[in-house]
Amino acid sequence: MTRKGLFALLAAVALAGCSRPSPEQQIVNDAAQALGGRDRIAAVKTLVVEGAGTQYNLGQDVTPGASGQTFTVTGYKRAVDVAGGRARTELTRQPNFAFFQGPAAQKQIAGIDGAVAYNVAPNGTAARAAEPIANDRRAELLHHPVTAVRAALDPMARLANPRTEGAESLVDVTAASGQVFTLAIDSATKLPARVIMMADNTNLGDVAISTAFAGYQDVGGLKLPAKLTSKTDDFTTQEINVSTQAVDGDAGDLAAPAAAASAPAITGTAPATVTADVLAPGIWYLAGQSHHSLLVEFADHLMLIETPQNDTRALAVIAKARALVPGKPLTQLVNSHHHFDHSGGVRAAISEGLTVITHQGNVAFLEEIAKRPHTKVPDALAKNPKPLTVEGVKDEKVITDGTMTVNLYPVTGAHSETMLMAYFPRQRILVEADVYNPGPVQTFAAEFLAGLKARNLRIDRIAPLHAQVATYAQFLKDASKAPASTN
Ligand SMILES: [Zn+2]
Repeated sequence: MTRKGLFALLAAVALAGCSRPSPEQQIVNDAAQALGGRDRIAAVKTLVVEGAGTQYNLGQDVTPGASGQTFTVTGYKRAVDVAGGRARTELTRQPNFAFFQGPAAQKQIAGIDGAVAYNVAPNGTAARAAEPIANDRRAELLHHPVTAVRAALDPMARLANPRTEGAESLVDVTAASGQVFTLAIDSATKLPARVIMMADNTNLGDVAISTAFAGYQDVGGLKLPAKLTSKTDDFTTQEINVSTQAVDGDAGDLAAPAAAASAPAITGTAPATVTADVLAPGIWYLAGQSHHSLLVEFADHLMLIETPQNDTRALAVIAKARALVPGKPLTQLVNSHHHFDHSGGVRAAISEGLTVITHQGNVAFLEEIAKRPHTKVPDALAKNPKPLTVEGVKDEKVITDGTMTVNLYPVTGAHSETMLMAYFPRQRILVEADVYNPGPVQTFAAEFLAGLKARNLRIDRIAPLHAQVATYAQFLKDASKAPASTN
């Protein structure tokens, strides 16, 4: 080597030393290179992904631990305007189980256009979705290798905490948008393996929302995954198998429909409306919106049946109960079943010191949700921690003090295997969730009726935790036209 050549070599080595990427940058650079190079990624305008797959029923399956209920997804099409922050997903899903809305396939169209999230109903009517949903959809834009690595390559992005876990190298990314996610790449192939984001779930608190990528194939100068699997913590929520996908193909019109774009933003949770109707002395039906409760007065205390949905609804119901009977302490809650919309206010009830009575099969689940961290969005229990007192009911439980009697019975079946109903023998009122709502669609009524006949209960009225109170005659009429539960 000549003297001049040696100097050139040393200069090159020195330069390389100065510009050697940090370990966190190296992970992103490796991912970009494996996908097709940073220039190719930067040039991507649109992604159009079509396929089919499966969705699962998080928080709504037959037991807290079950995952067997699925929807078959067909006609999946997701079009993404990568630079414009717009996306639209269309799919049709068909339940493979006794679904409360009936067995028909449902077409869904959901989109995000910058600040505006929207849904398009099957009849073509578009409506703006609430801000938390818009946030979720903006987050979802990053759940693809190209968009995630593109965001991580942005000079304004901050990278941190490079690490190796198993066969993956991970780096935490704060995107220029402020969105925070973790990019995990396969340590061998360097291809993105997963994108993980922390989010808030009303029932579960802090959860990891992740999408895993597999089956990479060559598309338009890039490597793109042919399988995308979404999870909430360890629960798989959706699997999509890609049939065709295109880079810079025709994404169609991704602008929010005018009806949604011109609608005002829906921020915060609307205050709850709680009405109170006396069903019998000492028994109030607390309705007003989609999910109802009952207040029951005993000689020396009060009991609620159901604190549904979320803190807002549950705390409003609790306040209403205390206002209706100010002289007696509210000490008990009967939770009908584990489904997220019915158990979403249990944490609020715990924070108010109520003892929770539920089906034995939900006890471990309630113990789990009582202790999960809620740091992303601190809820009532996070702000006012209290220990959980929970009582499981296996066969039957009678709560009575002479002035008031309530019998709790398990009501198992296709809707939930860990559910209680409440029966007031003197007033002949039956309280149930989800297995009978007066109306045209009756997925569970026939099965429910068979269960009631087996118990030989004398019932005048049914007080459902949705819809409105029905006479037993009305229930018999509805149950007789109900389709038998299938699957
Ligand atoms: Zn339910």
